[in-house]
Amino acid sequence: MIKENINEVETKIQNAVKRSNRNRNEITLIAVSKTKPISMINEILKEGILDLGENKVQELCDKYDELKEKFHINWHMIGHLQRNKVKYIVDKVTCIHSVDSYRIAEQIDIEAKKKNCICNILIEVNIANESSKFGVLEDSVYKLINDIAKFSNVRVRGLMTVAPYTENAEDNRMYFRKMHDLYVDIRNKNIDNVTMDMLSMGMTNDYEVAIEEGATHIRVGTGLFGER
Ligand SMILES: *Cc1c(COP(=O)(O)O)cnc(C)c1O
Repeated sequence: MIKENINEVETKIQNAVKRSNRNRNEITLIAVSKTKPISMINEILKEGILDLGENKVQELCDKYDELKEKFHINWHMIGHLQRNKVKYIVDKVTCIHSVDSYRIAEQIDIEAKKKNCICNILIEVNIANESSKFGVLEDSVYKLINDIAKFSNVRVRGLMTVAPYTENAEDNRMYFRKMHDLYVDIRNKNIDNVTMDMLSMGMTNDYEVAIEEGATHIRVGTGLFGER
């Protein structure tokens, strides 16, 4: 069943890639494995999907330990992160997608120094200005990135957003477009220590539109593993 899901998602990715004249290798599919058991994750890994997304520190660490001998997994932290938990993941994850304050970036820098690593981060943007959402507002992104750029053990790699929940993916096109505009604007500023090569947007309901609007990383849970 998971294999069929993978095939379906992959076909949709490739169609969106074609429609937008992009290359498949510009897009990384992150399988969001939160709440799903190791048995299902194993099926995904065996199909060659090695980028996994989790939103809770404890769950990420448990799964990391369980799988580290068998697969070389790129773990993505996609959920809201508390400062006191940064130390558990800073040297385990490929990227933290959910940085939305100076203080959390400062903590990541402190813990990354202790572990002698450099931690990739994305700035989470609340692009639709929803009161229920984490993320910084569009107006604050540029200042936050400038402030974070001075941390030697943190590298800003791009932006992430969780677009509004909608049945109709087209509703989110304008938000994805805004995100891409912002991403390109910041990239063009050539800020020291800021790379801007990751744009993480698009989930099960809207990843095709996100790809058409320039996503480099899509985060798909339900579409691969089924309902949670
Ligand atoms: C759960 C989650 C996803 C995946 O959502 P689906 O709709 O199941 O694809 C993506 N991004 C974040 C931040 C999530 O928490």
